[in-house]
Amino acid sequence: MRQPLHIAPPPSVSRVCPECRTTYGAEQVVCPRDGARLGVPAPVADPLIGQVLAGRYKVMRTLGEGGMGRVYLAEHARMGRLSAVKVMSPALAPTPEAISRFNREAANASRISQPNVAAIYDFGETDDGTLYLAMEYVEGETLSALIRRDGPLPAHRAAELTGQIADGLHAAHHLGIVHRDLKPDNVLITRLHDGREWAKIVDFGIAKTTQGTDQTVTSLGVSIGTPEYMSPEQIAGESLDARTDVYSLGLVLFNMLTGALPHPALTSKQSLVHRLTARPRTLAEVRPSTTWPARLQVALDRALAPEPADRFAGVDELARVVRAAVGLGASGAPAPRLIPARAPDISVAPTRRGSGRLVIATVLLMLAGTGTALGIRPPGAIQPFLVRVGLRAAPFPRPAAPTPATHDSPGPVMPAGSPTNMPDSSVAIAPADDSLSPIDAGLRLRRAGARSELHANGDSLDPSAGVVPMQGADVDAREVMLHVTRGRDFSRGMQLKLAGLELRTAYQEYRIFLTEHASTPQVEMLRRELQVAMDEALAACGTARDSVAARGGPPLRCEHPAKTGVLVVEGDDASSTRTP
Ligand code: ADP
Ligand code: MG
Repeated sequence: MRQPLHIAPPPSVSRVCPECRTTYGAEQVVCPRDGARLGVPAPVADPLIGQVLAGRYKVMRTLGEGGMGRVYLAEHARMGRLSAVKVMSPALAPTPEAISRFNREAANASRISQPNVAAIYDFGETDDGTLYLAMEYVEGETLSALIRRDGPLPAHRAAELTGQIADGLHAAHHLGIVHRDLKPDNVLITRLHDGREWAKIVDFGIAKTTQGTDQTVTSLGVSIGTPEYMSPEQIAGESLDARTDVYSLGLVLFNMLTGALPHPALTSKQSLVHRLTARPRTLAEVRPSTTWPARLQVALDRALAPEPADRFAGVDELARVVRAAVGLGASGAPAPRLIPARAPDISVAPTRRGSGRLVIATVLLMLAGTGTALGIRPPGAIQPFLVRVGLRAAPFPRPAAPTPATHDSPGPVMPAGSPTNMPDSSVAIAPADDSLSPIDAGLRLRRAGARSELHANGDSLDPSAGVVPMQGADVDAREVMLHVTRGRDFSRGMQLKLAGLELRTAYQEYRIFLTEHASTPQVEMLRRELQVAMDEALAACGTARDSVAARGGPPLRCEHPAKTGVLVVEGDDASSTRTP
């Protein structure tokens, strides 16, 4: 008994003129044609409401609608349990691609069992060929609706939600599943019994397992995902991993904090191109009236880095830094502790040629001769996209950011070309001329006298100083030292890319420390520790470079991590190799 399913338009999206019957958007009040006051059109009955789907789900009412279909509140006929049942739009079915995408969502999402992800109960096809997916009913509203209603969220609330969303994503990443369409529309906000706000991720509709071979681009050649929240690599149609969700989560956080996005969404197409060619706006640029914790911006810069290798390796790390930036402790979420998600390739072995974007090498090449490091140029992989949308990439310089106050003697940890004036997100970009001079002679000399007073857990702060440090400075110094320690651990383990990122973060944190606690005794200790860590990292990089060269591998060179966050760079020819 095949019943064609007609999904009626949702009742609240438009207004209609009672005189001329013209329909308008919900924001229109009066008909511009005849001046009549607009009304809401009578709801068109949805034939599914009241029916029993798949012999067990009594459909009660519509909950929402998305790209793949309509979601209904339903009651299980025997168990009485409420669930949200997504019914695939007949306009999308019955192409094999649509069916397989729907089944993929169900199969993927049903593997994830974590309190910040809406649980999948059941999925399948009814006798009449309607595809459905039954999931945990989340009573609440979407994060986008919340932001629309309440406006930007206070930083601690946004950080708390970021932590919860990260916990859900982390569980998925642990299974090798990348969401790929994270956005405020796909996060539902509900309340726990104790009244606490709780985030649940829905719509792993386009998620795919990172191990899978599923295509990321539809047969129409369109990248799957929601343009405003798509990562650069997703736009370019490249292979994706957990770091694409790091990027999208960064955008979701930015949206929670400002109600806007760092790349203005003029149109979807422009927004995409803007993302590929421009630096993201900072929080202060979007909301200058608010005083932002500097670390929050540092975290966003790293999450929104155009090159995945320059982002946080996992959403958990992003969440941790964000929580710390707003003064929240470790997450109190009851989420299970999981081992880290699939780690990115962090060994010193060069990336396979042709796989992914060798952004560092490519961008360096593209920048050669331009004399500027300020424009992000899209890597070659996105050119087809730009051509497809009929636009060519142009540099889009970021408005001059206020230069933070600098300390008189920041010490030799800074390479010759100080990154102070460089936008933070320029992580993978170094000027073509060599202004870095990774280690200067003075730095080497001082190293001999420097002794680390750091315990592995970062608890010991300058015991020799003999001064009781200010509490705020103490806390902030620990944050710097956390990254210094991690950087050192990574360089000892020859995980040089991660070491570079940690040390750059440590360096940025140190710069912030200087602006906030310039006259404290910790400054000198931090400077020394950072210097030792940089020195060790560059030495390790030199060893790796020499050993690769001895094996006849491609030329590698070592960049100073304070500036680029990169320790080892694959050069395209021997002439670009530089000795630190
Ligand atoms: P699509 O794949 O079509 O984008 P979504 O899964 O994002 O669909 O759902 C569309 C809307 O339906 C959501 O924005 C939300 O309003 C509602 N919705 C989805 N899942 C649930 C759920 N588990 N509980 C309550 N409402 C839901
Ligand atoms: Mg959705």
